[in-house]
Amino acid sequence: MKKGIFFVVLTLFLTALSSYAYEIVYPKTVNSATYANASFFIGSVKKNEVLKINGQRVKTASNGAFAHYVKLKDGKNYFQISSEKLRGRFVRDYYITKKVVQPTPKEDLGIIEETEKVYTVVNENSILRSSPADYGMNRISLLPKDTYLLTDGRAGIFYRVKLSPNRYGWIKQSDVVYDEYADETSGGYFKNCSTYNTEEEVVYTAVFSKNLPYEVKTTAAKVVLNVFNVENRQDGVYSATFDKPEFITYSSEMKDGALTLKIKNKDKYIRDNKLRGINIVIDAGHGGNEVGAIGCLGTKEKDVNLRVAKSLKNAMKSLGANIEMTRTGDNTVGLYDRVKFAKENDALIFVSIHFNAIPDGSDPMKSRGTSVYYYNPEAKDLAQAVQNGIVRCTGTKDNGIKTASFAVIRPTEYVGILIECAYMINPEDSVLYTNSKFIEELAEGISEGIQQYISNTGDVYTEIRPIEQKKRKFLWFTLKDKNNL
Ligand SMILES: [Zn+2]
Repeated sequence: MKKGIFFVVLTLFLTALSSYAYEIVYPKTVNSATYANASFFIGSVKKNEVLKINGQRVKTASNGAFAHYVKLKDGKNYFQISSEKLRGRFVRDYYITKKVVQPTPKEDLGIIEETEKVYTVVNENSILRSSPADYGMNRISLLPKDTYLLTDGRAGIFYRVKLSPNRYGWIKQSDVVYDEYADETSGGYFKNCSTYNTEEEVVYTAVFSKNLPYEVKTTAAKVVLNVFNVENRQDGVYSATFDKPEFITYSSEMKDGALTLKIKNKDKYIRDNKLRGINIVIDAGHGGNEVGAIGCLGTKEKDVNLRVAKSLKNAMKSLGANIEMTRTGDNTVGLYDRVKFAKENDALIFVSIHFNAIPDGSDPMKSRGTSVYYYNPEAKDLAQAVQNGIVRCTGTKDNGIKTASFAVIRPTEYVGILIECAYMINPEDSVLYTNSKFIEELAEGISEGIQQYISNTGDVYTEIRPIEQKKRKFLWFTLKDKNNL
């Protein structure tokens, strides 16, 4: 019995000790390492305590959150964290080692010219890119298996793909095999095309002798389809152009030489510039095993994202939209499962909710505010409207809209944006996202932005029509007469 009481007292005492004057959230351990020239401490301090790092007083936000940027020299860097005042002095030692970057042999990304060869795509949905880089905004299209490609050079892990006399693409070497039996003098050829037109969508099919590289591009007023390496078309490019309604989503697929482009005219879904009947998918970022960023107070990004997502659903309830959420609890959902969910629910608008973080080397005190990201040009106006809505309703710092190649906003089947509402690691932003009034204002701002976007789409219904392609002279380059190009 006595022993029991002793343990209770000891446990209480230790609990009191561990709930010390401050908590360090980052670095996660007292010994850490980085290649960056700088790092930071983030965490929180109890009320009325003074926190010092290497004797320098650290500024705290009203909720006790702090972030402190530190420069690093090569090797081990020592930091003494101390707090003073009510609870007595409490000191902890931290070491951050700045690793010296090993000089790696410089990868030669220069382009190596090669003779023309025919390669065949071996992986489904191989990415054809506009530059030899495995990331970024350089995607031209996704190519199916058995696509015929003509290459004439390489750089790094890519082959250069000849699309037309003055147009190149890049494909990963691991996505293709050399086709030694290919008839090297020929591309494919165009056979026929057909258009199936309803009020809701246009289904355009163009049939070729084999799978060929292609792209679908949009401009403000047009949708342009280009198929490359087509022998019986000028410069080897088969083109089809469509008038574009204000609000479209589209998908394309090449299979056994048949290219199908589906353009959905979503103008017709918008009645009286209202959200009534429109399908919206709200995506709370991360969840379950994926915590996301961790804030100064130890707040997990996945939890804040979900709070905002639920609040947004609530804010939009009375507007008549059909709202679905990719998650409503703390469960793990894969990125491509989120995309699949949105497509299955025939989403017109997809809104992914996140809070931002920064890597070592950046200053968390200088990282504040809101940015909305988009990938497809069709989502730019929505991104700007939501950015404006958030800044207007919450007063967060306006970091503007940006493009980024995030998997959840790349599909063209819906208009998708990803919101970095504020910074988890910034003390002043942490005061905001831990406040339920801010969460509500944020949801209100996003909702206002979406409504603004819909009301700007106008009342005019635009019909999608293929624009007649002029007959062109036969002029295609072959491997043999490439000197004539
Ligand atoms: Zn996130």
